[in-house]
Amino acid sequence: MAKRNIVKMGDPLLRKKCKEVDTFDQKLWQLLDDMKETLDFAQGLGLAAPQVGMLKRVCIVEYDDKYYELINPVLLKSKGKCVDNEGCLSVEDFRGLVERPKEIDIEYLDRYGDKFSLHAEGYFARVFLHEMDHLDGILFADKMTKKIMD
Ligand code: ZN
Repeated sequence: MAKRNIVKMGDPLLRKKCKEVDTFDQKLWQLLDDMKETLDFAQGLGLAAPQVGMLKRVCIVEYDDKYYELINPVLLKSKGKCVDNEGCLSVEDFRGLVERPKEIDIEYLDRYGDKFSLHAEGYFARVFLHEMDHLDGILFADKMTKKIMD
């Protein structure tokens, strides 16, 4: 495994729409393992592939001592609204208040290409939505209603 550099806001790589993964091979697993090491080192809740310069629909989430690897994630359903404080490993200088759905259902593939679905609420849902936005070139800064300086 190897830690990778995190791309910062202002880099055009963070603004691209990522491509779906269709090959579940050693290269993908290496990317996932490297992303995990990078996330653990940075002590974040989630990391998306474009944040390490790879334009693939891949993201990882670590929440409540559980670890999720999501390939080609899709939002199936969302319900409600809530506003909360959000930050990003690619945005160093500020956090922000962002409105997002309160509950979500998502579907994704794991590193072997097997399909899973998941229901999430509150901040747990927020972390997935934040990471999934990265796959479409969207940053929380685009959506925030209030900027919070660190
Ligand atoms: Zn982020």
